[in-house]
Amino acid sequence: MQPFRGTYDQLPDLMGRHQYIIEKVRSVAGTYGFEEMATPIFEYVSVFNHTLGDTSDIVTKEMFSFPDRHGDLLALRPEGTAGIMRAVLSNKLAQQAPLKFFYTGPMFRYERPQKGRTRQFHQVGVEFIGEANPLADVEVIALGWQALKALGLGESISLEINTLGDKGSRDAYRAALVEYFEKHKSSLSVDSLARLEKNPLRILDSKAPEDQKIKEQAPKMETYLTSSAKDFFEKVLASLTALKIPYTLNPHLVRGLDYYCHTAFEITCTGLGAQNTILAGGRYDGLSTQMGGPPLPSVGWAAGIERMELALPEMPTGIRPISLVPLGSEAETMALPLAFSLREQGFSVDMIYEGGMKARLKQANKVNARYALIFGSEELAQEKILVKDLDSGEQIPVEISKISPYLRNIL
Ligand code: ATP
Ligand code: MG
Repeated sequence: MQPFRGTYDQLPDLMGRHQYIIEKVRSVAGTYGFEEMATPIFEYVSVFNHTLGDTSDIVTKEMFSFPDRHGDLLALRPEGTAGIMRAVLSNKLAQQAPLKFFYTGPMFRYERPQKGRTRQFHQVGVEFIGEANPLADVEVIALGWQALKALGLGESISLEINTLGDKGSRDAYRAALVEYFEKHKSSLSVDSLARLEKNPLRILDSKAPEDQKIKEQAPKMETYLTSSAKDFFEKVLASLTALKIPYTLNPHLVRGLDYYCHTAFEITCTGLGAQNTILAGGRYDGLSTQMGGPPLPSVGWAAGIERMELALPEMPTGIRPISLVPLGSEAETMALPLAFSLREQGFSVDMIYEGGMKARLKQANKVNARYALIFGSEELAQEKILVKDLDSGEQIPVEISKISPYLRNIL
């Protein structure tokens, strides 16, 4: 039996990396005052297709959607932002804005599986909701940058940034793009032709080979920015410079989703091949009103945990347990209460029940134990336990009553 295409099991080794990444990002998010929250992994399909737009890849090709027993149309969430905004509105949190949320969990997209691309994948993300100040964009980017540095990726990452402007800038730019692409209609890809009708900005995002040359000559957003949109972007860039966060301007970075405005950004990582974007986000001032809520200018990002797992330099080894090696029935009777008491005191204890001494020590090494506590009737008669250092091989008899302070001292 195999799992469904594009899904996979998170076996303990991978799960260790997974949790390590979440912990690091969660803790950096905490230092920025972001609180963790979670939304359901499925929602009414309308939560996504009304907000992500009819032309986004997610809605047109990638959504896992299905009717339930009563005919309600549901979807496994393809991303986190729409659900969080839905939750802000359902729970009437708008009045408490600004809100700063951190989230993590599985996301689902029906795509062609390949390295760094699965159908069930996992994200960590942050949303800064109800704050229009460009410094919020900078804080959110800085949080992501710092989290990736905390993961040891500081040398491998680069930030690309662009502005999509405000409504005025976008309307003018859109008109210019339509005029330009209309002239090249005959050479555009089929997907881009559809975008030309509905969302010409997204042609800039196209990966189709036939679109690349046409894209290069396309008008630039820069030319069409209103002065307030320009100010906004300049503040973001100046503050990034002040924080010594290096960036590259990328005029073709438009993000796949329709609800973005102003700042759009991505952080890529070397060594990942084609799927090298690990973190992506931007400002989405229009999302709340699009969902029928009050105006809540917001900015956020999401990062793919699988891609971070691939990029992670090395994994610090997890907790090393203490292995208990009771020899004979008297020792065995005592072993569980001893393990129970040590565990209550916070030690990680692994029991090794069977086999000769050699086999048991081999097992202790297999679980990466730091020490083995060895005891048979001989040791117990003297009220002692042998504490064997599994790295050096040294062993010392320790009085049973003093075992826990002794371990605390050496661990
Ligand atoms: P891509 O261009 O790689 O398809 P995207 O624009 O669809 O990315 P976003 O919706 O911005 O991706 O999601 C944010 C991040 O989530 C991505 O940068 C990536 O790290 C991760 N991600 C997205 N889709 C997948 C997937 N199918 N498998 C694994 N990670 C993913
Ligand atoms: Mg995608």
